[in-house]
Amino acid sequence: MEQLVYNTLANKKEVFKTLEPGKVKLYLCGPTVYDYLHIGNFRGPIVFNMIRNWLEFTGYDVTFAYNYTDVDDKIIKKAQAENVDSRVISERYIKAFEEDFNNLKLKPHEFNPKVTDHIDAIIELIEGILKNGKAYEIDGEVFFSINDFETYGGLSKKKLDDLEAGSRVEVDSRKRNPHDFVLWKPSKENEPAWDSPWGKGRPGWHIECSAMVKAIFGDSIDIHGGGIDLIFPHHENEIAQSEACNCTKYCNYWIHNEFISMGDEKMSKSLGNVITANNFMKTYDGEVLKFLYLNAHYRSRLSVTDEKIRQSVSALYRVYSAKNLAEQVIEKIEATAVESKNFSKELKAFEDKISESMHDDFNTAETISVVFEATRLFNSSLTKKRKSVEDKAIAQSYLKFLDSYGQILALFCEDSSSYLDSLDEMILSLNSISKSEVEKLLADRNEARNNKKWEQSDLIRDQLAQLGVEVLDGSAKGWRSKV
Ligand code: AMP
Ligand code: ZN
Repeated sequence: MEQLVYNTLANKKEVFKTLEPGKVKLYLCGPTVYDYLHIGNFRGPIVFNMIRNWLEFTGYDVTFAYNYTDVDDKIIKKAQAENVDSRVISERYIKAFEEDFNNLKLKPHEFNPKVTDHIDAIIELIEGILKNGKAYEIDGEVFFSINDFETYGGLSKKKLDDLEAGSRVEVDSRKRNPHDFVLWKPSKENEPAWDSPWGKGRPGWHIECSAMVKAIFGDSIDIHGGGIDLIFPHHENEIAQSEACNCTKYCNYWIHNEFISMGDEKMSKSLGNVITANNFMKTYDGEVLKFLYLNAHYRSRLSVTDEKIRQSVSALYRVYSAKNLAEQVIEKIEATAVESKNFSKELKAFEDKISESMHDDFNTAETISVVFEATRLFNSSLTKKRKSVEDKAIAQSYLKFLDSYGQILALFCEDSSSYLDSLDEMILSLNSISKSEVEKLLADRNEARNNKKWEQSDLIRDQLAQLGVEVLDGSAKGWRSKV
């Protein structure tokens, strides 16, 4: 089956073909490390982790680079406010990012380049652009000349004339075109500065990704990713810089994920409507965030609401309960499993459906709905007593299925019984009930039972039920949340 990828460059789905057979070079624009990241910032890492896993599953060898922007006005401003070196700020927030990233349990990237480690590569790239006559220097500042790059606007579908007409910003009169952008600029006092052929200075924003891509992968890559806000000007400028220097196509497939929003607005630090990843993890966890995101298509805008979080938690509860049941069935039946032909046949149909969805521009929403169909089928296929040798085979096949697609989505891989416990607690917290309140009621009920006060014990059971807690007398924990 051909892999279809929605390519922003073509504005349509295209058949995916790699530069080198079997190998994928993938670069995703990473964060500017000046503050704690919000959950919207993690849509990219979660989506592209899935894309890489799926491509690997279908036989590609993927190399993934995700950068840290550690030279930036916002970093400098914060460093000046705290009276420390810029590096203190960037290292602090790289560490914070890594903590969030680890909580998400995604596959580590092969490369996490930093801009400050690539200044020589940046200077070399700018020299190449200058040599090819597509940039000019004025007073220690180097500008890219978009009039000299014919295909400028090709990614964002912006025309130069429209750009000029729409320009409202005060224009630097030294520029040949108001939209010429900075490749290198002199550093002000107390700003990080590096020696260059144009004097002491620092790079403009866009040049860093072009330079890091070239340093890691060479002149061309297969996939470049990022949020849709980066299409213009960042990615448009990356294409201009790289192609102006290297004289060859920079990237074949541009994949952009839509925004995460709060209500109708994009989640954004500047609007102040953010949930930091760190805060989200305190109440929920990486699994819930991954489920929330992958349950939607990466090209659709997703609004994070309490209701959606609640739905994700209960959806995870259903899958993990089935996983737990499958494990118990396998453990209890000692006899050798005997295949259930019907179940295997239906599971195979589900696998085909997933393959079709994923080949069609990584449709994880469809994939997850198939996982639920398979879960329903699993639950209904077991015999009432769950003791037959076919039950064992059904449980084994279901677990294999869940593991296989779970690994691609980076979901459903937690230990089932301890994860069900975590979900129980998340549900309590969603219902604003404290765990200690539940435990106190359970202890009271136990005491009533010990004293053979059955009426009182039933009363407490009802009270717990009203809190959404089901009493389980047989189990060690003694309760579970109702979903
Ligand atoms: P920044 O640190 O602002 O450069 O953003 C880092 C990455 O997060 C970029 O790829 C952005 O496109 C992405 N991003 C920022 N806000 C959101 C959001 N609300 N939803 C999805 N992606 C976002
Ligand atoms: Zn970038």
